Amino acid sequence: LSLIGAASHEGTFMLELVSLFAGTKSLPALLPQVESRLRRIVPFDGMVVHRPGPGGLERIYGDNRTGSESVVPNWVWKHQRAVLNAGPHSASAANSPSVVLVNGACSLLSVPIRDSVGSEGVLTLVASQRDCFSADHLRILTAVAERLCPAIQNLDRLSSMAAESRLDPLTGAPNRRSLRERFDRSVQQAMEDGEVLSVMLCDIDRFKQVNDQHGHAMGDKVLQCVAELLRRQCSDGSYYARLGGDEFVLILHGTERKDWDALRTELLEQLNECRLDFGLEQVRIELSIGFAELSEAQGSCDRLLDAADQAMYQEKQARRRPVVIAS
Ligand code: GH3
Ligand code: MG
Repeated sequence: LSLIGAASHEGTFMLELVSLFAGTKSLPALLPQVESRLRRIVPFDGMVVHRPGPGGLERIYGDNRTGSESVVPNWVWKHQRAVLNAGPHSASAANSPSVVLVNGACSLLSVPIRDSVGSEGVLTLVASQRDCFSADHLRILTAVAERLCPAIQNLDRLSSMAAESRLDPLTGAPNRRSLRERFDRSVQQAMEDGEVLSVMLCDIDRFKQVNDQHGHAMGDKVLQCVAELLRRQCSDGSYYARLGGDEFVLILHGTERKDWDALRTELLEQLNECRLDFGLEQVRIELSIGFAELSEAQGSCDRLLDAADQAMYQEKQARRRPVVIAS
């Protein structure tokens, strides 16, 4: 009877886990919930998750309780094999790497997070007692890791889709949506801190002509060049976005009205350099640039953008006006 009870408990746990995987939108939100549910069925002190990164296996969740960094998870990752009760007192660690555990942690249960399709990292449980884990615990953790693997793949896909939906695919610049999210927050913050915040909006002059004379592909390159120009201007919390078409915005933290002329001059100089970097020697790129300051917009993002847009438009009109030479 107790066997049947344990099996039913385990079955319920697995079902709960699968619905948890389906209902959670990010890995940082998912892993603490996996840990708390696992505690109901396996005894342990801490759960650690490692994933492969550019510099090798990286701990993305849990404390480094073993004090030996990721010796065991690295071994598990390399060999794609589980380790049961690795530790200084372990008699059953014949297959495991030699590892000295400190901080009172005396046994580890570590399994690759993998399914039949791929492998996404290593899931490790740490306990302060010696030989804490049984073959049953190993079986349960292996089953958890097998279900966690596709869940991680889905969450990775979701997070890269979310990141992509905030980027303009042509220039790689943050898009209007991304601007909206950041802009509200930074305006709020600047108002609270009494910080100076300016907006610079620019639009390429006669961009349709660039497309007509040099082709759409060259027009695309011009947009990439302008995006790069603005990206290079971003430091100290300043950021930029492509609003759409040939219109870009730069949000400038700490830039005062008196700095605008110097910034405009610097930008136009850099534009020339950027143009050459992008192999656009034969294309003339001209920008109309308008600035506006938060203090004049009563804290409204839309008013701020409108004011910068008007200033930009005035500059565009002024450039278009024919120069009258007095006779
Ligand atoms: P103005 O001097 O008044 O700014 O005129 P403009 O010719 O630059 O035209 P406007 O700013 O009104 O319109 C932008 C043009 O940019 C319209 C469209 O043909 C072109 N455009 C918009 N998006 C893209 C794109 O992704 N690639 C290319 N190559 N062209 C684009
Ligand atoms: Mg234009």
